[in-house]
Amino acid sequence: MVRSVKDIDIANKKVFIRCDFNVPLDEFLNITDDRRVKSAMPTIKYCLDQGCAVILASHLGRPKGVYEEKYSLAPVYKRLTRLLSEEVKFAKDVVGEDAILKANELKSGQVLLLENLRFEKGETSNDAEFAKKLAGLAEVYVNDAFGVCHRAHASVEAITKFFDEKSSAAGFLLQKEVEFSHNLLKRPTRPFVAVVGGSKVSGKLQALRNLLPRVDKLIIGGGMAFTFLKAQGLDVGNSLVEDELLPEALHVMDEAKKLGVKLYLPVDVVAAQTFSADSTMKFVTTQEIPKGWMGLDIGPATSRLFREALNDAQTILWNGPMGVFEMEKFSKGSFKMSHTIAEAHATTVVGGGDTADVVARAGDADEMTFISTGGGASLELIEGKELPGVKPLKLKEA
Ligand code: AMP
Repeated sequence: MVRSVKDIDIANKKVFIRCDFNVPLDEFLNITDDRRVKSAMPTIKYCLDQGCAVILASHLGRPKGVYEEKYSLAPVYKRLTRLLSEEVKFAKDVVGEDAILKANELKSGQVLLLENLRFEKGETSNDAEFAKKLAGLAEVYVNDAFGVCHRAHASVEAITKFFDEKSSAAGFLLQKEVEFSHNLLKRPTRPFVAVVGGSKVSGKLQALRNLLPRVDKLIIGGGMAFTFLKAQGLDVGNSLVEDELLPEALHVMDEAKKLGVKLYLPVDVVAAQTFSADSTMKFVTTQEIPKGWMGLDIGPATSRLFREALNDAQTILWNGPMGVFEMEKFSKGSFKMSHTIAEAHATTVVGGGDTADVVARAGDADEMTFISTGGGASLELIEGKELPGVKPLKLKEA
């Protein structure tokens, strides 16, 4: 577990909050989805209520260490001024003259947003000098940017070296992310069922390995299922297969058997002739995928099978879509899975950007217990890895 901003004394101090304001923008640089800005509000408002002067920092997109207008945090600044009735200021740089001047002058109850952290080369290289300059702006460090915690970047990792346990902590968003995944993996209410999908086995192999000893059932869908089906001796046509991982797939199935984990694979698929939205398609069993065709979604029998398997679940973890949900024709399996999980009387945790997207599009977001906001970071937690941004903020006994 992590130290929460509530566990340390921040009253009337100058606080640096690493946020995740990496919002989508349209061609006119308007924010098209401001959830990331809104979800930072609880931590920001808590700090303001404690009489703090608040310095906010974030990255946006992937600039290459120099200023580029299209990556400026100006649109976020505008949105912040609307969301916070408090006075908000905006620095033209990150650790330059303007930022230092404005940070020095910042008073209790005021908010300062720095420019995009990635306008400085030192951010992504985890540069200690840059981190020191950032740290020099404030007395307290708060990390509320879960989505970048798996990256050793200066504002996430190197900066923590300049704050002790009494002056560094996790914001509410980060705390929630870490606690959910910790509870899920360490003490799930059983039966615990993991539903894993997405394109490739290679991307989820470590997650599968870490989940196997913890779950009661493992449901595998999406493109990655075909490597498992092929390993079982089925002819899967042109479906996505990673041949070099066939032995690994067999190993996972063997392990599952040894551990008493029930492993479910698709029994039918929506097959198509080409990987395109206007391709001819048909429902076939996984035994009968025609030569040259590929499975792009789970079929209706599989949706029913998976629903049955989830029926008695008390805890469900879902990471990875069941098919190529971006194309309507191949989205039903993922949407049905979303509805099934949303209706389950279980603790339901959704991870991964694509999966969160499916859940949102299916209109099920409010029905899930928790939707993780960080794609790569949440996968790394499921893999059992210690995140560089979380490690320095851990409570001693954890
Ligand atoms: P990942 O990033 O590994 O979670 O994979 C997500 C991607 O997997 C999505 O973009 C889906 O379109 C893709 N995907 C899901 N099922 C299949 C499939 N049967 N064949 C090819 N790609 C798939």
